[in-house]
Amino acid sequence: MKFNPTLTRKFEEAPNTFSFFFEIEGLTSWQPGQFLRYTLPHDNPDDRRTYRWFTISSVPHEGVVRLTTRLAPESSTFKQALFDLPIGSVIEAEGPKGDFTVDNPVENHIFIAGGVGITPYRAILLDLEHRGEPLNITLLYMNGDQDFVFKPELDRLAKSHPEFKVKYFISPEQIEEEDIRQSAPDLQKPIFYLSGPEPMVEVYEKTLLDMGVPNEHIKLDYFPGYE
Ligand SMILES: Cc1cc2nc3c(=O)[nH]c(=O)nc-3n(C[C@H](O)[C@H](O)[C@H](O)COP(=O)(O)OP(=O)(O)OC[C@H]3O[C@@H](n4cnc5c(N)ncnc54)[C@H](O)[C@@H]3O)c2cc1C
Repeated sequence: MKFNPTLTRKFEEAPNTFSFFFEIEGLTSWQPGQFLRYTLPHDNPDDRRTYRWFTISSVPHEGVVRLTTRLAPESSTFKQALFDLPIGSVIEAEGPKGDFTVDNPVENHIFIAGGVGITPYRAILLDLEHRGEPLNITLLYMNGDQDFVFKPELDRLAKSHPEFKVKYFISPEQIEEEDIRQSAPDLQKPIFYLSGPEPMVEVYEKTLLDMGVPNEHIKLDYFPGYE
């Protein structure tokens, strides 16, 4: 489906990380964890061109489509155009698509996030809570600094849902095999989700497979374009 989202609000989540809120007529439902493809024509686009995919970091019941992204020091022309976009602007989007979704909330899940790769997890967690489902999830969340995006919401969820656990890792500290084993003593049981920059997702996919996690228990969400 094609849509014409209207930008209604921008919000700084953390230094250089912003959420953009869009009203999208006709898009009232999606599965948390899915994404949209946005087209943003602008003058002199670079070789990365004028479209990008972004996970919907909001939940249908919030009544708004939210994308959350970082502005790099030398960012693409697309990102510059997005960050300069005036409130009220109308752009193009297509979707929603993707199967980085939770099928059975009763099962145990291990969510691994790198940086802005937290976006699908916010949507999934808040949706499960809204639907009164259990949050049978351990979230292992790595970031380059202490400014973890969505931390207040994640901490609130962990306080109100004892079955939900979140552990933070600030670079150079990384998620090690031992952290994964502590969260999942039986590696054959949980469903593992990996979301973040493409190189990080590749490394942890290999780690999980080497540890003996069944391939069919690993779900991936690659964010290309980040190093
Ligand atoms: C399914 C899916 C979901 C996604 N969800 C999200 C999401 O929720 N949030 C999110 O932030 N991203 C998400 N992404 C990734 C997103 O689509 C972009 O690829 C990513 O944000 C990088 O954006 P950018 O290419 O504009 O580079 P930037 O963010 O502007 O820059 C990233 C790095 O690339 C360098 N760079 C920038 N332009 C160029 C260039 N022309 N040539 C060489 N190097 C360059 C920069 O210096 C910087 O080091 C998702 C991708 C997919 C496929």
